[in-house]
Amino acid sequence: MDADVLVVGAGPCGLTAARLLAEAGRSVTVVERRGHVGGNAWSEADPATGIEIHRYGAHLFHTANERVWAFVNRFTAFTGYEHRVWTTHKGEVYPLPVNLGTINQFFRAAYTPDQAQALIAEQAAPMLARLAGREPASLDEKAVALIGQPLYEAFIRGYTAKQWQVAPELLPASVISRLPVRYNYDTRYFNDPHQGLPVGGYGRLWEALADHPRVNVRLEEDCLAPDGGPFTLGAVRGQLPVLYTGPVDRYFGYRLGRLGWRTLDFQWEHHPVGDYQGCAVMNYADLEVPYTRVIEFRHFHPERRGVYPGDATVTATEFSRVAGAGDEVYYPVGTPADRELLERYRLLAVEEPLVWFGGRLGRYQYLDMDAAIAAGFALAAPLLEG
Ligand code: FAD
Ligand code: UDP
Repeated sequence: MDADVLVVGAGPCGLTAARLLAEAGRSVTVVERRGHVGGNAWSEADPATGIEIHRYGAHLFHTANERVWAFVNRFTAFTGYEHRVWTTHKGEVYPLPVNLGTINQFFRAAYTPDQAQALIAEQAAPMLARLAGREPASLDEKAVALIGQPLYEAFIRGYTAKQWQVAPELLPASVISRLPVRYNYDTRYFNDPHQGLPVGGYGRLWEALADHPRVNVRLEEDCLAPDGGPFTLGAVRGQLPVLYTGPVDRYFGYRLGRLGWRTLDFQWEHHPVGDYQGCAVMNYADLEVPYTRVIEFRHFHPERRGVYPGDATVTATEFSRVAGAGDEVYYPVGTPADRELLERYRLLAVEEPLVWFGGRLGRYQYLDMDAAIAAGFALAAPLLEG
């Protein structure tokens, strides 16, 4: 292969690494299994309505990392979109993440911030006593310590059971740390200082990132294909530096077993109305509703109001289940058994000659896009130094 480096996977992590290496003068080949770049953070225009849809679930860009923010702004401008989510519980709609509005609506009260904090402290006290000073070890411990038992039961327990189908005591506390809790009426989903959506959509952003004379992207090429073609690892292993952002267990032929992942099924629907649900994301907290949330994509781009049709909209209803062989993987589950298996794969990974593992699949780690881009910086670093 006529390249200095092979990057496997054209997601945010792989493309970032490829771009940095190309700008440093290396010639980089990127192989990507799918028919497009951008990995799971891909968006494109819905052919029927022209509305920008996110093929692999809603993606909102948010970051506090100044280097990442400066980097992505080289390739696109961002809209000022700030994400807000609502959740339906027992036929009533509440703002999420839990904030003073959620607390007052749920308890039919008009608490001040201090009163609400005192109430939640009281409701979290039994869990804090149980923890006796140690850090919460699991999702349920962390969530109850943060918001108390009643709010946990209403907004977290059912949703989490549908999303993960794993006992909450086996889920890492980090999963719930993504949700802030606020004692004011700030209903934004994220705290980060930089938030927005790429003005032209994610597709354009990732294509711009890949657009460099020394980056050669090969779509619909699986680097682990058994046929031993020129872009497979079989052909280059040990001869060329490889930055691998595919699944770590698949790299090793699942020889130690499969890491646990969740996949998502999306039910795509068109509706002959200008506004189907009044917001971009409506969560469904109750176990009786089989899906976790409904995404109405037109609301991600309020600045396109005059461009989008007034009588048609597109939604995706999200169902979560265990990923089987052949499914797209979305969320690493990360039970204690998974983490133990991961450690064993990591020991194999460090022995691989000239191969570096990165990204959400290569590290078996939930990464937001900004963290995936930062992971791309880290992945390229040893080769930039070398
Ligand atoms: P990926 O995007 O998965 O890219 C890896 C690429 O490698 C894929 O394109 C894959 O096809 C390719 N590949 C794998 N194996 C091979 C192989 N053998 N040969 C060739 N190619 C291969 N982040 C946010 O910041 N904000 C959000 O709102 C947000 N929402 C999300 C919603 C959902 C439902 C999910 C699941 C994730 C969300 N994320 C969000 C996270 C975001 O998707 C990730 O940060 C990002 O996709 C990680 O980039 P990556 O490059 O590590 O991996
Ligand atoms: N979560 C919940 N109820 C909600 C939203 C989130 O219990 O209405 C929990 C759930 O366990 C989820 C985690 O919080 O997996 C993180 O939520 P986030 O919205 O970040 O999940 P994502 O958007 O990545 O699916």
